[in-house]
Formats: sequence, structure tokens, C-alpha cells
Amino acid sequence: MKFGGGVLRDTTALQNFAEIVRGLEKPLVLVVSAFNNVTNELEQILKSYVSNNYDEVSEKIRLLAQKHYSIAGTSDFPDFNTYIDEIQRIINIPYHGDFDAVYDDIVSKGELMSAVVVNHFFKTQAIDNELIDIRDVIVTDSIFREANINWDETEQRTKQVFSEPKLYLTQGFIGRDSQGNSTTLGREGSDFTAAILAFCLNAASVHFWKEVRGIYNADPTKRNDFVLLPELSYREAVEQVYYGAKILHPKTIKPLQNKQIPIYVRPFGEPDFEGTRISEFPAGNQAHEPEVPVFIVKENQILISVSPKDFSFIAEKNLEKIFALLADFRVKVNLMENTAISFSVCVDNNKHKILPLTEALNSDFNVLHNSDLELVTIRHYTDSAIQSALSGKKILLRQTGRKTIRFVLAATD
Ligand code: ASP
Ligand code: MG
Repeated sequence: MKFGGGVLRDTTALQNFAEIVRGLEKPLVLVVSAFNNVTNELEQILKSYVSNNYDEVSEKIRLLAQKHYSIAGTSDFPDFNTYIDEIQRIINIPYHGDFDAVYDDIVSKGELMSAVVVNHFFKTQAIDNELIDIRDVIVTDSIFREANINWDETEQRTKQVFSEPKLYLTQGFIGRDSQGNSTTLGREGSDFTAAILAFCLNAASVHFWKEVRGIYNADPTKRNDFVLLPELSYREAVEQVYYGAKILHPKTIKPLQNKQIPIYVRPFGEPDFEGTRISEFPAGNQAHEPEVPVFIVKENQILISVSPKDFSFIAEKNLEKIFALLADFRVKVNLMENTAISFSVCVDNNKHKILPLTEALNSDFNVLHNSDLELVTIRHYTDSAIQSALSGKKILLRQTGRKTIRFVLAATD
């Protein structure tokens, strides 16, 4: 079971957490992520540190500790301060420029702190659990902020560590490389941790406890015609998360599909409700396909169009160059299209990656770009669904498939 920061926000939530867990059958592994917004706050601490603003850093660390005390309902518990001290120690060393490594060192503390608090809270509620430092289990490479799992090693350790019929509590999102550095698996990566552990342990099921009732066909904060989807196939779910549905981390589905482990997305505030179940549907059985259009919106997109300076076709050689650069700068393609001499990709507009990428592309290609775009995907589209998604927007690109239609949109001015 995974409990995210969105639901772990105060003492009442910890009580609810304890009530959900109490009396459940064991073995059971609980994965927690950092408390509500703590990962963002740690990113802010990092930012102040990198810009040498030490007063700001100290104040933010103080507030961070306060926040944990207030969620815990006490400041009187052991172990917690070791992590605050560790953050202090990191920021006492002048910044050496390896941003991603320092990021993982600091930001990984969010999960370590929440797990200590939950562990302590469970003890006060007479819930008997064992706290595991997941960094002793999840073995990764050293690609900081997007570490890749060493599956063989991780599987072996998972089986060793979680071997008894107990209640285990551990952290999501983080791991350790072979040099002993803390690593992270990418933002919102705790879901993936739960999937990794479930895969390695051949779990009976995985439950993601969320602040929503399950998976909807649209973001309830953006449209008011949303409905809950009680059942989805792995295939439908993997398509939706790939297109940018935020409900589960994109890497979560594959390991669980591979072992045919059912996934439940459930409401933390309504523990008796099943939420959405994701499982295998018999081949060709579309009875459970959503009957309503599913809207997925990815914001802050940039459309980059490149054309070879020598007027050559966009064929294998040029594509090879473009894709090598995309891979080098770890830019993930959300949508692509080509014509005879132009190739366009729609990607997240992450400046740290996009600036060096476009610079590198510039040597062989003319590069144009459009930013502040939205990538809208509609699965199981209908005319009226399309109309509602396009209103007030200008279409820069459209791709139509049998089940899916996608638009790159700009605001009309
Ligand atoms: N705490 C991390 C984040 O906010 C991981 C997670 O929540 O899954 O990105
Ligand atoms: Mg989080």
C-alpha cells in the first residue's frame, strides 16, 4: 500500500492511516512519500543554498522541522533530528556545482523524515511495524534525480528484507547507488517504489491511497463533467499515464502488468470504497473500456521544430542525430511529427534541459520553437468532447488515431 504526501498532511490523517492499516492481513508493506508539499519545500531549500542565501536556508529548515512536529503532534521523538542535522551538514559545505547529486542528497530526506514520523506515530497507536530504510533495498545507478533500478540486485534484497509475515513501513521515491549515494527515482516516484516492491514480492495486489475517489475521465479541478472510472485495463491505464494523466507515476504500470498484479486507486478519506481497479481484461473484451471520453491535459509544453540546414530529408540519419540528442539531454518526447524536411517534438518545457538541447541541435538544424502550449489528449473521443477541449484555443498540431486524438494548443490572444 502506498500513501502519498497529498494525503499525509496532519495528525488526523495519521490517525486515519493507522485505522486503515490496523487489523489488515500480513505480510503487508506500507510505502510512504514525503508529507504534503515537503518535496517542494526541500527543493526551495536547495535553491536558497545554491544561491548562497544562508539566512533563508536556515529559516526554511526551521519551518520544515516545525511542520513535521505539527503533523506528528509532538517534537519529542528520536531519529528525526538526525535528518535535519544531515541537511545542515550538506548546506554547511560550499556548493560544489553537482546540482543533481546535491538535489538527491537533500530531497531524499523528505521521505526519510515522513517515515520516521509515521513509525513513531504507529508506536503510540500500538501498531506493530518494522521500519525499513528502502535505500538498503532499492539499488540504482547514479543518474541522480532519475535513477534507474538495478532489478536483479533489488529483487534479491527485497525478498531478503521483507521476508516475514509482518507489517513493514518504508519510504518511496528513494534508493542508493553502488557508491552509497542517495538517489531519487523522479518526481512522484513513490508510486513506482510500491510497484517495484510488489513486483519483487509477487504481491496479491497494490493499493494507492489518494486524495481522490479513484481515477476520473478528466481532472476534476479543470472540468465539471468528470466521472469516476471503476475499472480500467492495464492497457488503458498505461496509455493514460503515458499521455500525462497524473494519477499514477508513468513507470508504475509495467511491473504490475508483467506480474498480473491488480492495482487499486482508492480514496484515503473513504477506506471502504474500492475506487478504481486496474487489471487485465480478456483479449478483445472491451466491455470495461471507458464509455466516456477521457481528457488528459499536459501544460507547460514546448513545440520544437527542426529542419536540416542542408535541406536534406528527415530520414534515418537525421532522425538518428535528433534522437541521440534527445536521449543525451534526457528529454522525453510527448508527441512527434515530421514532414519532408522538418521534424517537430512536443516536450515538457524544462529549461535546464531544453536550452542545452536546442543549442546542440543548432549545429546541424534550423530550430524553431513555440512555448506556453498545452498538449491535450482525448481517448475515446467524440465530436462534442473535441469541441469542448478546443474552445478558446488555437490548434498548432493535431494527430488523430482510432481511439485517441491529440492536439498541441496555444491560447488565442
Ligand atoms: N515526494 C516525492 C515527490 O513529491 C515523491 C512522491 O511523492 O511520490 O515528488
Ligand atoms: Mg510527494
